[in-house]
Amino acid sequence: MNKIIAVVSIFILFCCTQVADKPSGSTKSISSSNTKIEKSFISFRIGSSQSLPEKRFNELLDLFDKYKGVTDEITFFTHTTHAPLPLDSFRQRIVILKERMVQTRKRGYKTGINILTTIGHHNENLDNSLKGDYTYMTNIDGEVCHGSFCPNDENMRGYVRNIYQMTAQANPDYIWIDDDVRFGHNPVGRGCFCDNCLKIFEKESGLSYTRESLKMKMNEGPVEEKLKLRKAWLQHNRNTISRLLGLIEKTVHEINPAMPIGYMTCDNFFEGNDFGKWAKILSGPNHAPVMWRPGWGYYNDANTSELVGKSHDIGRQVSALPVEVVSIQSEIENFPYQRLKKAANIVVLEACSHIAAGCTGAAFNVLSMYDEPLDEYEPLVARLQEARPFFDLLAKSLGRSAIAGVHTFWNKNSFIIGNLDDGNWVSTGNLLVSHELYDIGLPACYSIINAQVTILGKDNVFALSKDEITKALSGGVYMDAGTLQQLNDMGFGDLTGFELVRSENKDRIEKFTNHTLNGEFAGRERDNRQSFWNLAAYTLRKTNEKAQALTSLIDYTGKEVSACTTGIFENRLGGRICVAGYYPWTFMENLSKSSQMKAVFRWLSKDKLPGYIASFQKINLWIREPQNGKIALAFTNSSFDPAKNVILMLRTENKTIKLFNMKCKEMVIRSSGQDGPYQKFIIPEVEPWQMRLMVNE
Ligand SMILES: [Zn+2]
Repeated sequence: MNKIIAVVSIFILFCCTQVADKPSGSTKSISSSNTKIEKSFISFRIGSSQSLPEKRFNELLDLFDKYKGVTDEITFFTHTTHAPLPLDSFRQRIVILKERMVQTRKRGYKTGINILTTIGHHNENLDNSLKGDYTYMTNIDGEVCHGSFCPNDENMRGYVRNIYQMTAQANPDYIWIDDDVRFGHNPVGRGCFCDNCLKIFEKESGLSYTRESLKMKMNEGPVEEKLKLRKAWLQHNRNTISRLLGLIEKTVHEINPAMPIGYMTCDNFFEGNDFGKWAKILSGPNHAPVMWRPGWGYYNDANTSELVGKSHDIGRQVSALPVEVVSIQSEIENFPYQRLKKAANIVVLEACSHIAAGCTGAAFNVLSMYDEPLDEYEPLVARLQEARPFFDLLAKSLGRSAIAGVHTFWNKNSFIIGNLDDGNWVSTGNLLVSHELYDIGLPACYSIINAQVTILGKDNVFALSKDEITKALSGGVYMDAGTLQQLNDMGFGDLTGFELVRSENKDRIEKFTNHTLNGEFAGRERDNRQSFWNLAAYTLRKTNEKAQALTSLIDYTGKEVSACTTGIFENRLGGRICVAGYYPWTFMENLSKSSQMKAVFRWLSKDKLPGYIASFQKINLWIREPQNGKIALAFTNSSFDPAKNVILMLRTENKTIKLFNMKCKEMVIRSSGQDGPYQKFIIPEVEPWQMRLMVNE
C-alpha cells in the first residue's frame, strides 16, 4: 500500500502541543535563521478517557509531577472518535476541560486544547456524530464520507465557528487544529468535489466542469493540458484550506488576539503545501505565535525503516515553514497505544530523529486511550524524563537552522505529476523516490534552496519551469534514466551528456569501470536480479566526449552487453550530472556501491557537500548550515549492530569537534587528517539505534 493511502487508512489520530515563547520577526527564509531556542518544546496529548474522569485526571497530573520536566505542556483532546461531534456534546466536554486546564495550570504546566475534529477525519462512531444540513466530503466520483464535511459549506463553516468560539472562551493557553484539515478522508479518499466546490473552482479559474468532465481532463489528453488543470486544482485546494484557517484565526483572535494557534500537517502535497501562507494566516493581524506539528504514520517499531522515513516526511514539512514558527513539535503517535508495540527507547529515538530533521520538540501521544490506571505507561514516562536533557540539547544546538546536503526533489506543485500516464490523478500515491540513499551516510536535505545535490526521479521535471530546470542542471544532479529521456525530449540534451539507447528487463549485472571515482572497486559487480526485483536496466550512449562511464552491463556469462549504464558528465554551465540506469534508488548497501555513491555525490557537489559518513555503516545524517561559524549535526546508527570507528568527513577548517551521546555525555574528537576541504573525524563507537549530536568548536 502506498504511503499516502496508508496514512489515510490508518487512523490519523490525536494530537497536541506547546507554545512559542518568542514569536515573530520578518518572513526571512529559514536559511538565515538565528532564532535562539533554549530548550525543546515538549507536550503530551491526553485522550478523553484520561482527562474527563476526575480520578484519572488527578492520577495523570500526579504522574507528570512525579517525573517533573518530562513535559511543559499538557494538551487535551476534545474528541475520542474522528467524526465531528454535535455541538451539545462538544460543549459538555469543553465545560469539563476548562476546569481541567485551571487545575493543570496550578501545577505549573501550560495547557491547551487539541480540536481533534474540525471537518472530520473519516467514518467513525457516526451514530453519535454530527448530523444536519451539511455537505459531506465528496470525491471526484460523487461518493461521500459521512464522517467528514466540505470546508466550503457555509453551514459547516458556521459549525466550525461555533466550536472554535467555545474552545477559545474556555481560556486555553493555545489551540491546536488537527490533521483532518486536509483532503483524504476514508472511505472516499481525496475531496472535495461537491457541486459547490466545482462552482468555486469555476469562479477562481474560469473553467467550468462537471465531476465527470473534470476527471477526464485531469487524467486524459496532452500532458501540458493535464498539468495546467491539475496545477489550477492545487491552487483551489490551497485557497480552500486558507479560507478555513482564516475563519478559525478570526474566530479565535476575536476572543483572544494573542492566542497561539497550532496546526498539524502531513506531507500535504494534494493540499498544495502552502505552509508559509497558512502560517501567516494563523498568526493573524496581531502576529500571534503559530505552532506546527508535522506528522505522518509510524505507529509501532515493527519496521525500523519507517522511523527515519517519518523523519524525512517531517523534514520536508519543516523546510516549508517560515522561520517565525519556532515551536515545531513532531507528532509522536503510538495509536492504539499498546505499550509493547513501540519500545520506550524507540519513542525516545523517534523524537530525537525528528528534531534532527528540523523539529524543535515533540508532542507525545503515547498514553492509554482507556479509562484505566497508567501503571504500564510509567516506565515510558520515566524514560522520556531521562531523555529530556538530550531533547533540550538537540533543540538548542540545532535550533531552526537550515539543513544542507542531498535533496530528493519535491516542491509545492509536485502532486501534479502523479499518475501522469492516463491514471487516476486524485488517487496518486507516493510521489518520491526511495530514501535508501540516505541510509548509507549521505546527508539528507529537504529544500532545493539549501541543497548541494538534487535527486530527480521520472516525471519530477514536469513540476519545474524551464528556468528552474536550467538552474538545477547548473548544479549537481543525480537522476534516473527516465528523467534523462524527459530532459532530452524537452531540449536539455546538451546539458545531460547522455542519451538512452535501450532498456532491458532481462537479468543484467552492473560492473564497475576503471574510473577514478570507483577507486579500488573497479571491476566489482552489482547484481539486483531482474527476475526477483524487476526493474529495467538501461543502456546509455555518450552525446558529449566529456561524458564518462562509471558502470557497464554484463550478462550472466560475464559478457559485456552495454558499455555504459551509469555515467557522469560536467556540462557547459558547470553543472555536474550523474545518470544512473541500473537500480538508481535501491540496493545501495554493499561496500562497493555505497562507496561509489559517496564518491559520486561528493563529485556532483564539487566538494561542497557539508559532510558525509565515509565508513561503511548504516547511518542517517542531518547537517545544519553553519551559524556564526559553528556547525551542528546529528546522526543515528540505524542498525542493530554497533558502529565502530565511524568516519565523519566534515567540510570545515576546524580540527576539533564535540560529540554528545544521548545521555549528554561529551567527547572531544580531533581531526585525524584532511581530504580536500574535509576534516576526518573518527568516532570510536555508536551503539545500535543511538544518536550522536555534534557541534564544532
Ligand atoms: Zn466541497
